[in-house]
Amino acid sequence: MRRRVSERYTILITRTGKEPRAFSFRPVVLLMAGLFFASWAGVTGYLYVRNAALKDTQARLEQLSNRARALSLQLSEEQNRNNMLAGEAADMLKQLDQLEAEIDRLRERAGLPKIEVTPVKGENQGGEGQGGGIPLDTEAMLKLTAERIKTLTGNLSSKIEPALEKTLAKEAARPVGYPLKVHTYIASGFGTRRNPFGRGYEFHDGIDLPAWYGTPIYATAPGKVVEAGWSNIYGYYVKLDHGYGYQTLYGHMSKILVKRGQVVKRGEVLGKVGSTGRSTGPHVHYSVYVWGKAVNPVSFLGAPSYAKR
Ligand SMILES: [Zn+2]
Repeated sequence: MRRRVSERYTILITRTGKEPRAFSFRPVVLLMAGLFFASWAGVTGYLYVRNAALKDTQARLEQLSNRARALSLQLSEEQNRNNMLAGEAADMLKQLDQLEAEIDRLRERAGLPKIEVTPVKGENQGGEGQGGGIPLDTEAMLKLTAERIKTLTGNLSSKIEPALEKTLAKEAARPVGYPLKVHTYIASGFGTRRNPFGRGYEFHDGIDLPAWYGTPIYATAPGKVVEAGWSNIYGYYVKLDHGYGYQTLYGHMSKILVKRGQVVKRGEVLGKVGSTGRSTGPHVHYSVYVWGKAVNPVSFLGAPSYAKR
């Protein structure tokens, strides 16, 4: 048996209760160590390169994340703007609601039925669809607003305004208050009463308002003098036509101060209190007619005469 003289390096690992294990190194191990070092260097180099690539990726990632952050910021700004627009649209709709209510009030005053400007907002009759409470997006809301404005404006100028003007003219033509500006009272009311000159009953088609002889008598509404003269019943009297079916009569005057055909304003003096015709003392007989029929003037008097000087 040939023995090797070459140097050997041995490592002994002892284990309890077992034989020690020996690892012997021959010089070749050095070579191996060299190889190992070389491979380590290789791995390290590889790792270094890889690390550089990683760093590059990381940088790119960071860039991307920055970009994403910027985009998300932009998005949220857009969202804010959108929300603001939506808020504005909602505000506009709210204002429109108020406007519509106002217009409806005007329509009511003008004697027109209420309008259905907005068939939206879940008030859809017939047809399938939105069952209320569905939030509208900004665009739809703005469109709706524009449509409503158009409808309301058109409605206002074409229907409401003329009707309202007529109503206002009619209201202006309506007799208001007492034909006297002094304190007075209703000495004899409207309706069936005992005949003050004899037996039985008669129909009194107005009210009697006592006042001093010569007290001015005023027109209770603007109008035209249709009668100014003498009657056995009313004595010296004036009858005015105010239009819209309204007429007023002022009787028992001591003096007439207007002429037939004359146009008078509300509050203009027509004559003076007297006791002409079927009268028992100085007073003005005041009648109000609606479409030719005598009605109770009390509903046209309003506040007491002395309260509205
Ligand atoms: Zn009378």
